[in-house]
Amino acid sequence: MKVNYLDKFQGTFIGVAIGDTLGYPFEGFLRSDIYSRFVDFEDYIFKNKSLFKTYTDDTQLTLHVAQALIRGNGYNANNLVNEFVMWLDDPPIGPGYGCISSIRKLKYGTPWREAASNSGGNGAAMRIAPMGLFYSRDIDSLKKAVLDSCSLTHSHPAASAGALVIARAISFLLFQDPKQRFSTEEFINVISEPVNTSSEETWREMVKILRKVQNSLHLSLEEGLVRFSQAGVKPPYFIEDYIGEAFVHPYTLSTVACSIFVFLKRLDSFKDCILELSTSGGDCDTVGAIGGSLAGAFFGLKRIPSEFIKLVRNQKKILNTSEELCKSFLKRYSNQYYK
Ligand SMILES: [Mg+2]
Repeated sequence: MKVNYLDKFQGTFIGVAIGDTLGYPFEGFLRSDIYSRFVDFEDYIFKNKSLFKTYTDDTQLTLHVAQALIRGNGYNANNLVNEFVMWLDDPPIGPGYGCISSIRKLKYGTPWREAASNSGGNGAAMRIAPMGLFYSRDIDSLKKAVLDSCSLTHSHPAASAGALVIARAISFLLFQDPKQRFSTEEFINVISEPVNTSSEETWREMVKILRKVQNSLHLSLEEGLVRFSQAGVKPPYFIEDYIGEAFVHPYTLSTVACSIFVFLKRLDSFKDCILELSTSGGDCDTVGAIGGSLAGAFFGLKRIPSEFIKLVRNQKKILNTSEELCKSFLKRYSNQYYK
């Protein structure tokens, strides 16, 4: 397949922004509570547009990661630190504690090797899509850049495990033809590979959870979300009250597992996929953003309905940033023609 890189890059970014925008009003709610509000989510969105007027930190940080890659023609820690500090002036919308506390330390001069919090939260995975695109033809550099960039804010191995898996998934999906089904087994093997070679216990757990996702695709969407909502979560963070409920925990392994499960269950169209991702329950905006990056990378911009693109705040800026990143990528890695 001849890849339309621009379409895929822009689809990935807009996918993040749509999932984030649609999920934000439902952040912190059980899936069952979300679905008690409407019969048809799509109809609800367009009758209640004022509820879906902004994206959050997931999209903001994705754009800042992209800007750092563009400026440096690749990953450079100082450029990314500068972008993170600029984010504090955006200002941040709905940020996670682990992420913002470490970025404040960076702003006030703590060396970046010491600023990271020991958070296993999904803040590194949710911003990683631009790395997956930019380094899609150079997987060794991808792994190194992802790990280094995670370490600026998150020192917990769950954060890096999830970011590696999502970045590798984006690189894989960029080269898939949306008119054809890819092999689920190949997909899980490929995305597990960056974390498969380590003896790090949390990375091994990520691999086991991904295998379990692959073996659970016969379940209904709801059953799968219940199964993976708190995957890998340990006490005191495990929420007993939500056993048996779909409520995606912000721990990276759970968020990544649920995002991938929903994505693989709804491969018929971008629309079906994003409507389910953003109403997963729990950390809906981040499941929307991470799953939206996967769906956008697979389907590309042309397969995203225009009425959903129009919902996104600053859509032109997002499309321009993804185009600039695509140009940097092509300049560095490819001389292939793209439209
Ligand atoms: Mg968010």
